[in-house]
Amino acid sequence: MFTCVGYAAQNASAPLAPITFQRRACGPKDVQIDITYCGVCHSDIHTVRSEWGPSAYPCVPGHEIIGRVAKTGSDVTRFKEGDLVGVGCMVNSCRHCESCEAGLEQYCDALPTWTYNSPDPVAPVEGDHTYGGYSRSIVVDDHFVLRVPENLDPAAAAPLLCAGITTWSPLAHWKVGPGHKVGIVGLGGLGHMAVKFAVALGAEVTLFTTSPSKVEDGKRLGAHRVVISRDAEAMKAEANRFDFILDAVSADHDVNEYLGLLRQDGHMVLVGLPEKPMSVGTFALVGKRRSLAGSAIGGIQETQEMLDFCGKHNITSDIEMIDINQINHAYDRVLRSDVKYRFVIDMASLPATA
Ligand code: NAP
Ligand code: ZN
Ligand code: ZN
Repeated sequence: MFTCVGYAAQNASAPLAPITFQRRACGPKDVQIDITYCGVCHSDIHTVRSEWGPSAYPCVPGHEIIGRVAKTGSDVTRFKEGDLVGVGCMVNSCRHCESCEAGLEQYCDALPTWTYNSPDPVAPVEGDHTYGGYSRSIVVDDHFVLRVPENLDPAAAAPLLCAGITTWSPLAHWKVGPGHKVGIVGLGGLGHMAVKFAVALGAEVTLFTTSPSKVEDGKRLGAHRVVISRDAEAMKAEANRFDFILDAVSADHDVNEYLGLLRQDGHMVLVGLPEKPMSVGTFALVGKRRSLAGSAIGGIQETQEMLDFCGKHNITSDIEMIDINQINHAYDRVLRSDVKYRFVIDMASLPATA
């Protein structure tokens, strides 16, 4: 094992601060990665603040990891020292349940080992949990390491590992493409990637935002239409229009306002994970055979497909780069919906020791 520097919260109300912790040594099937950039996902904030139930502390978040391979284990053939690689939300899974066999490790019956704040069966300190990418380096089983196209700006590629795959996977699963009218709800980290992908896939894209200041950005990102979701008249005019709506909102809100915007047999898919359960009006679903579904990140194979698509079409995230000591301020801005459109931490700014 070796000592690693990172940034952690010590409890649900503490700011993030430097810490040292232990990582396992690089084993035969492992890839050891020097982390260069890490994106800041709203899930980091939900977890750090125990909004989804009690978290394990110290909590080192970060699951939009980009770096260079520092070392590979003796059984690893797919990677070599110096390769540009990424790690997303998972670092392991059971590998043999129905979901794992289908390449959908995120739905593993035994639950995947999440990149941070997850019980870690191979922790160097028995009973410890996983530590994420707000840190100097990480050791990951090679199955969960992604190849990042070298033509992409590595910092702007970091958010692809969560915001990217989380929006790509449902668009691919529900086969969104030319001729489809698609609504994207919320222009944050996930929402802005959803707009880019839905446009690249050939759909007619309408952005729903609560922020009038984001109308121009929505159009610049490719949305064909933008609707201010707090304008009741404007929302009424959208009734029965959409084949597919992707909801990427982080806070409690009323989904029923969107169900009525689906046409017959339309699908609404939730990727946002607000703290509280929501209530759903059954008449809106039953009345036009609409469906409401959810979707979690994406499998490893489809994450690689998404990264390759981004390499081919030169798609990355719109980012604001920060030093690690600005992270607490960045969290405040995310909570105010004031991020254009993903914070990415430059890991060169980590202190040498805690
Ligand atoms: P984000 O950057 O904070 O974006 C969330 C957006 O939601 C905001 O920019 C805002 O867009 C909108 N919003 C915020 N408060 C709102 C409110 N009270 N009412 C209506 N809209 C509101 O967050 P993110 O990183 O994209 O993550 C979004 C959600 O997805 C989080 O809950 C996160 O945990 C979850 N997530 C899920 C998965 C998965 O696998 N399913 C993966 C990653 C993240 P406007 O200003 O445009 O209204
Ligand atoms: Zn995330
Ligand atoms: Zn499994």
